[in-house]
Amino acid sequence: MIVTLEAGTPQSTREAINAAAALMGSPANALRYDDGTAVVVVEGDLPADVLELPGVRASFDKHKAYMHVSKLARERSVVMVGDVAVGGDEPVVMAGPCVVEGREETLAVARAVREAGATILRGGAFKPRTSPYAFQGLGELGLQHLAEAREETGMPVVTEVMEPDQVEMVAHYADMLQVGSRNMQNYPLLRKVGTIGRPVLLKRGFQATVEEWLMAAEYILASGNPNVVLCERGIRAFDPAFRFTLDLNAVPAAKELTHLPVVVDPSHGTGKRSLVASMALAGIAAGADGLIVEVHPAPETAKCDAAQTITPAELASISRKARAIREVVVEDGVLV
Ligand code: PEP
Ligand code: MN
Repeated sequence: MIVTLEAGTPQSTREAINAAAALMGSPANALRYDDGTAVVVVEGDLPADVLELPGVRASFDKHKAYMHVSKLARERSVVMVGDVAVGGDEPVVMAGPCVVEGREETLAVARAVREAGATILRGGAFKPRTSPYAFQGLGELGLQHLAEAREETGMPVVTEVMEPDQVEMVAHYADMLQVGSRNMQNYPLLRKVGTIGRPVLLKRGFQATVEEWLMAAEYILASGNPNVVLCERGIRAFDPAFRFTLDLNAVPAAKELTHLPVVVDPSHGTGKRSLVASMALAGIAAGADGLIVEVHPAPETAKCDAAQTITPAELASISRKARAIREVVVEDGVLV
């Protein structure tokens, strides 16, 4: 079951829950949130007298496989990336190149996307490439370029981490850790990013169900990190005209089931530059809390994913329209 503890719940209530869970022989997995609330997940149902203690709100969840992530645990979460709120009234725009290319290039693209309305800089230093012969990224040097761009522009940085052993190093430079589509079910990686004090962008596996995606998020929360943002980035469908198909059903579907913010990636979700703006805006209309978009000053020359990369000018138009659409679909953080 899920027990939500209000801010200011007495310590005696927490102790009684722990004691009752211990008697039942089931672990009490507790997660504290910045707003003072806490969520405790217990396998099995606590006795009625414990549920009547001050501060306790109990839910008996059908979705036992993802109780921390469930909407029954919390109404809504706002995840802070540096000083940028994901899941608030404003749509967040994360933008930058697919892969970090060099120092000057990174500074230039960071300035350009900030100018175009982005508030978080994206860029891959460790790239999960389908072919082992494709450019794999600059590694730690790329992280240093991103960190320098953050110092100059003030934008927090999101970048991918592929292996548990790299998590500490990437977290040293980045403000948010991206777990890529191909790693959504890399359980050692999920557990590891769950132990680190950085928010996580969890991309949906392109062959994963919504439920599997939520269970992957549950690994991170159950490991102690409540700051997860889900990213719908397209699933594999049958039409070779599209690299992937942005599954916009998944946005309101996930929002019904979880309190975590959801963003969409119209770049990988289409694979096609000409479709990015439409699908970005459709994503916001479907209730997404933001976007992650691949942008390059000269998209045709981008070292990775050129076909789906747009210009800063195109991003500026998307950011402006996304804000207008968000205003229509959301009031006080709630979809209307
Ligand atoms: C990326 O964001 O560049 C990326 C590799 O995304 P995905 O994991 O969704 O393919
Ligand atoms: Mn890419």
